[in-house]
Amino acid sequence: MKVIETVREMQAFSESMRMEGKKIALVPTMGYLHEGHLSLMREGRKRGNCLIISIYVNPTQFGPAEDLDKYPRDFERDEALARNVGVDVIFYPSNEEMYPEHYQTYVNVEEVTDNLCGLSRPGHFRGVTTVCAKLFNMTKPNVTIFGQKDFQQLVTIKRMVTDLNMDLEVVGLPTVREHDGLAMSSRNTYLKEDERESALSLSRSLKLAKELYDAGERSAAEIISKMTAFIEEHPHTDIDYIKICDTTTMKDVQTIERESVVALAVRVGLPRLIDNYVFGEPLNI
Ligand code: AMP
Repeated sequence: MKVIETVREMQAFSESMRMEGKKIALVPTMGYLHEGHLSLMREGRKRGNCLIISIYVNPTQFGPAEDLDKYPRDFERDEALARNVGVDVIFYPSNEEMYPEHYQTYVNVEEVTDNLCGLSRPGHFRGVTTVCAKLFNMTKPNVTIFGQKDFQQLVTIKRMVTDLNMDLEVVGLPTVREHDGLAMSSRNTYLKEDERESALSLSRSLKLAKELYDAGERSAAEIISKMTAFIEEHPHTDIDYIKICDTTTMKDVQTIERESVVALAVRVGLPRLIDNYVFGEPLNI
């Protein structure tokens, strides 16, 4: 397994892989790897014969009051985990490599980023799409794999790839959860013991939404109000949003008719956690 730190070397490596006829799979991450990331890598291993992951905590997707400096990092541990799943290259660039002096170009996907995390985290998706577009140009993937855990991000990346005619396939994979249902996240490490207990209210509220839907409930307001009441019973929770949206437009729906997702963001102690459930799909909690 190689670790590549410069853009020039990354592009040369990917170009040589392409010349050899290899299919390149890319898994972009911010590191502090967990089973969710590893599931994407295993899929990348299957879909490509050259597997690249990137580890980069991208400053342009963090707001000024967010956790950029505190974001957990452990490169040695990540290296061992990546080697174990058969990663060929870790692309591990510095901020200077990614955003050199005079940098001034950004990619902005419009409507699907207006709602949900786009409302709570202004500029977040602009940072995400910019860094992903750059990573695609640096690693030249044929296929890239993202988690449905960040549902709006996945929709946004798919939109960008379609709209800008990027010649690669975007694959979304289901959320990997802890044994008790908590969606895996690098930010779970911020949770204190009693907060972790309260954090379970996110996935449990999604289970409640699924049960209501399966019993025939189609009113978004009804489902949201029951989820809100449930989460508010738990200490340390502060709901940012709970919304039900059309999965194509990411606009709020009042009645669930077309494919819809219930998405939520809740601060539990320090971290702001997100989770979601697409109605009609399985939920293994
Ligand atoms: P991050 O390092 O948090 O930026 O995530 C990198 C990639 O891993 C993104 O595509 C995420 O959606 C995905 N991911 C994060 N957590 C999970 C999870 N619990 N299950 C599946 N994918 C995940």
